[in-house]
Amino acid sequence: MEITKPRVALLASPGMGHLIPVLELGKRLVIQNNHHATIFVVANDTSSEQLSKLVNSPDYDILDIVLLPCIDISGIVGTDASLVTQIAVMMHESIPALRSTISAMKYRPTALIVDLFGTEAMAVADEFEMLKYMFIASNAWFVAVTIYAPALDKKVLQEEHVNQKKPLKIPGCSAVRFEDTLEAFLDPYGPMYDGFLQVGMDMSKADGILVNTWEDLESKTLAALRDFNMLRRVAKAPVYPVGPLARSVASSPVSGSHVVLDWLDKQPHESVIYVSFGSGGTLSSKQTMELAWGLEQSKQRFIWVVRPPLDHDVFDSYLTAGSGALNTAEGALDYHYLPEGFLIRTRDVGLVVPMWAPQPEILAHPSVGGFLTHCGWNSTMESIVNGVPMIVWPLYAEQKMNATMLTEELGVAIRSKEVPSEKSVVGRGEIEMMVWRIVAEKQGHAIRNRVKELKHSAQKALINGGSSYNSLSKIAHECENSLQFTQEKAEGA
Ligand code: UDP
Repeated sequence: MEITKPRVALLASPGMGHLIPVLELGKRLVIQNNHHATIFVVANDTSSEQLSKLVNSPDYDILDIVLLPCIDISGIVGTDASLVTQIAVMMHESIPALRSTISAMKYRPTALIVDLFGTEAMAVADEFEMLKYMFIASNAWFVAVTIYAPALDKKVLQEEHVNQKKPLKIPGCSAVRFEDTLEAFLDPYGPMYDGFLQVGMDMSKADGILVNTWEDLESKTLAALRDFNMLRRVAKAPVYPVGPLARSVASSPVSGSHVVLDWLDKQPHESVIYVSFGSGGTLSSKQTMELAWGLEQSKQRFIWVVRPPLDHDVFDSYLTAGSGALNTAEGALDYHYLPEGFLIRTRDVGLVVPMWAPQPEILAHPSVGGFLTHCGWNSTMESIVNGVPMIVWPLYAEQKMNATMLTEELGVAIRSKEVPSEKSVVGRGEIEMMVWRIVAEKQGHAIRNRVKELKHSAQKALINGGSSYNSLSKIAHECENSLQFTQEKAEGA
């Protein structure tokens, strides 16, 4: 028999926040289940510095990484198209290349795993008689909302959730407050909501939904997703919590020393607040100023990954994050948007890093005592696996839900009184107080203990026999059975 181990193909949509967890999932399938994994990468700029560092990292040598041809969408959508539209169009345009690449593979993969934006590719899996799974690089609560959306009445949604601002009830799960709601829900008759509904319906067609969470983190929501009287009625596909999938220090593109890590080596234990808004998050000019003043006034040590402010869009650099151009001195070292004299006054306690920093190393460093984060789910997982308490500062996508979960349900974070937004700027006094509370005060200790408990529960989920380990093994067994079936069929033919 020629093939001895199943081959799994994973399709990653554009953006570092999408690619990183897919690479980690592929790695886990190889290491834990001895599968062969091919990662198909869709990107608008495959020469981007961070992207090429990431895919060439020795830690991912065990994967076959295939960069699909870059897609130029400029003739299809305008430059003002939303990020979601841009990603959706890029994924759609990549389908022919995906199909021809799979078709030309000597050994056809047994399964295709797609992420949130890749559901259209499930048809390719059908064409080649492959198993098809969805991987949601977010949490089970987000899966619950997505899968339940097609069961909602648009009129009721518009009237009660949007007009009257009532919480959105999801059977067996925490309700979503209007302030935390997803952008798609704000206009149930708009194209974004239709796209969201399609994803919810596609989820039910998958052979399984893998989620970057673990049993003990979201037991209530996972139970609701499995209960026929609650969500299983609409969620036709089984849900497999396989997380946390977070980059370890070894898989980060940094090797050897780095100015940030050298600086951290000289700081006291758990004394530094790390400030970063993910791969593309930006703040307004006014908010950037207030944040600078807040950090300075707190008199605490900090590392701040700074991007030039943008007053119209909070994720403008998402698709180009970490690209060479933005990382150059010319691109980012002009700090005119920071208070005059800020860099000089804070030079003994703070480090400002332009555009991109080695986040896994920073969060794993013993000198880091807190993380002011936009609550992207990868950042959240990276913070938890390193036992770092958070100040939550959600910007877009499902981040407001994540922020509420982290503060109110899990107790591993604090937040400002009002959700930061274009309309409400978080003042320097409140920022100063939050930083002080998380790094220096007693409240920080209590939250740190709680996040360390979660860190241990995450470790337990991942070890041989742990809940996430077993979940992924179930998928692996399905792939093994499918491969065996195909081979027997071929031999019998
Ligand atoms: N990241 C990084 N350095 C940075 C900013 C981000 O390494 O300066 C990584 C971070 O470690 C995480 C990913 O980029 O793995 C961001 O994913 P997340 O889900 O947190 O946010 P998104 O960028 O998707 O909004």
